[in-house]
Amino acid sequence: MITAAARTKLNTGLNTDLFIDGQWTPASTGATFPVENPATLHVLAHVADGHVADAERAIQAAAAAQAGWAATSPRQRADILRAAYEIILDRTDELAALMTAEMGKPLAEARGEVTYGAEFFRWFSEEAARINGDSTTTTDGTNRILVTKEPVGPCVLITPWNFPLAMGTRKIGPAIAAGCTMVFKPAELTPLTALALAGILAEAGLPSGVLNVVTTSTPAPVVEHWMSSGIARKISFTGSTSVGKILLRQAAENVMRSSMELGGNAPFIVLPDADLDKALDGAIAAKMRNMGEACTAANRLYVHRDIVDDFSRRLAKRMDQLIVGDGAADTTQVGPLIEQAAVTKVRILVQDAITRGARVLTANETIDQPGYFYPPTVLVDVPADAEMNSTEIFGPVAPITIFDTDDEVIRAANNSAWGLAAYVYTQDLDKADRYSRELEVGMVGINTGIVSNPAAPFGGIKQSGLGREGGRVGIDEFLEYKYTAMPITGRR
Ligand code: ADP
Repeated sequence: MITAAARTKLNTGLNTDLFIDGQWTPASTGATFPVENPATLHVLAHVADGHVADAERAIQAAAAAQAGWAATSPRQRADILRAAYEIILDRTDELAALMTAEMGKPLAEARGEVTYGAEFFRWFSEEAARINGDSTTTTDGTNRILVTKEPVGPCVLITPWNFPLAMGTRKIGPAIAAGCTMVFKPAELTPLTALALAGILAEAGLPSGVLNVVTTSTPAPVVEHWMSSGIARKISFTGSTSVGKILLRQAAENVMRSSMELGGNAPFIVLPDADLDKALDGAIAAKMRNMGEACTAANRLYVHRDIVDDFSRRLAKRMDQLIVGDGAADTTQVGPLIEQAAVTKVRILVQDAITRGARVLTANETIDQPGYFYPPTVLVDVPADAEMNSTEIFGPVAPITIFDTDDEVIRAANNSAWGLAAYVYTQDLDKADRYSRELEVGMVGINTGIVSNPAAPFGGIKQSGLGREGGRVGIDEFLEYKYTAMPITGRR
């Protein structure tokens, strides 16, 4: 049920039931849970609150659809993805408004996410038609080796709230392209965009049972039911490292294929020869995209002693100029955080850094609005042992640490359990090459503050995850290799 005010505002006939076997259906208990706008604290909608009985219906639908779906032609699957891509772009304004309302990001960023999210469907519509194998012979020349690829089978897809559309399309796109069916559980804080996406895919011609969406306020029992079902062959998860570890333990029980996009703690390193204007633009992009609520967000800024005064003063000025408010207003550049707990966490991290000697360079004015706002903040002289250096801040706070040598900063940057993204600003090609090689991460931005792109393999090393999403390898996560040996006969 969408509240009347929200429906008028969003101009959408969005369905808020579960989507199982091609049907919109209430939760078996009839329960719903509210979805709140983090900028206004208004309830936008009440969404079906699925539980284990619904999880069971969903996984059975995915199981029943798997064989037929795997037998469809690559072109058929590509055409569905392409049609969904077109529909998403046609509805950019509507989807952007929905995302801003349930998640808080400014409209301009929400529109950007619609384009970015849709692009995964276009990319994987192209990949669907290019699933190729390999053919060779054994080294002694006796057997032909034929390598083919098959869909892994029904998948469990779990997404976070920070990119409500793109995290869905990044998993659903390759699953569809590969010929997998799926059960999908979006984050309980942002289920509306996921439901809109399910409607779009049905409109684009996706057969019943291929995608089944269960929204729930109690993710643990729903997902555990899928993981222990013995039906699901793969888990693709984006979220916190702690939940990722729980799911990996569950996956072990049935030896499920696992893709994990977990936390990050990205260093943003500015060398003394950097183009400072570009480094400032990059810092704003890497820090402030999504209000800092991104796993690729610059979490630790390391700035060389020679330029730190200039850089930090100018960054603080830029951060103070950003307009904070309800993302639905066209002028807003920084929206609210997702929930009160996020604001509290950021406040505690900042207080900890200050207690340990950090100084605040921004005005840090409190925002006098009802939503979950936190002011853009720049800190300098942040000591290595500050909590925020080893915690994902997930907020608009830029902690600056001074460094003197390459060895020192590379060591500090790598001193993390995570290894997702890193950013380096330098004009020296040799230094760029060295940092790119020595930083222990899955993605390096050289003189750029944005690394995410559907054509690139997104993912991390260490405790940031397993596997890659997007790029040429993205579809492989949803495919199994099969090798057939055949004697070479008819030899003279
Ligand atoms: P975040 O801290 O970004 O909210 P979470 O890891 O808590 O990250 O959430 C990411 C996704 O994982 C969400 O869809 C959430 O509902 C789901 N989730 C949270 N706890 C569990 C759990 N115990 N088992 C399965 N999924 C979970």
